[in-house]
Amino acid sequence: MGGGLVGAEAAVGFHHEGKECTIVEMKPAIVEDVNSFYRGGLMPEVEKATACYVNTKVKAVVPEGVLCEKDGEDLLLEADTVVCALGLKAPYEKVDALAELVDECYIIGDCGKVGKIYDAMNTGYYAAVRV
Ligand SMILES: Cc1cc2nc3c(=O)[nH]c(=O)nc-3n(C[C@H](O)[C@H](O)[C@H](O)COP(=O)(O)OP(=O)(O)OC[C@H]3O[C@@H](n4cnc5c(N)ncnc54)[C@H](O)[C@@H]3O)c2cc1C
Repeated sequence: MGGGLVGAEAAVGFHHEGKECTIVEMKPAIVEDVNSFYRGGLMPEVEKATACYVNTKVKAVVPEGVLCEKDGEDLLLEADTVVCALGLKAPYEKVDALAELVDECYIIGDCGKVGKIYDAMNTGYYAAVRV
C-alpha cells in the first residue's frame, strides 16, 4: 500500500527476494515526487518488479488481501502479506509541547515537515545560521 519512494523501493527489494508484488497508489503515478533523474533510474526496476495500480485507493485490509476503490468500483487485490508504506506525518503535537518548554527553538528536518535528507540538511543549515 503506497507507491511513494519507500513503497516502490521496497517492492524492488521484495522482487529480488523472489516475491510477487503489487503496488497500490492513489495518485496518478508511482514515485511522483522524487527528482526526475532518480525516478528515471528507478521506474524501469519498478516496472520489472511489480504490478502497479495507480488512481487506486486502499479502503481496507481484509483476510484475502487489500480492498481498493478504482474508478468508483471496488477492487480486491489478493495478498498473503501487506506492507504499509502510506507515508509519514510530522508529530506536530509532541513537537509543539517540547518547543514550549524553551525560550528559543528551531524545528528542523522531519519533525517540521517530513521530507528528504536534502530538506533536513537545508533546514538544519539555516537554523545553525540563525543560532
Ligand atoms: C524507509 C525510508 C527511506 C528513505 N530514503 C530516503 C532516500 O533515499 N533519500 C532521502 O533523501 N531521504 C530518504 N528518506 C527520508 C530521510 O530518512 C529523512 O528525510 C531524514 O532521515 C530526516 O532526518 P531527521 O534528522 O529530521 O529525522 P530522523 O533521521 O528520523 O532522525 C530523528 C531521530 O530522532 C530520534 N528520536 C525521535 N524521538 C525521540 C525522543 N523523544 N528522544 C530522543 N530521540 C528521539 C529518532 O530515533 C531518530 O534517530 C527515507 C525515509 C524512510 C522512512
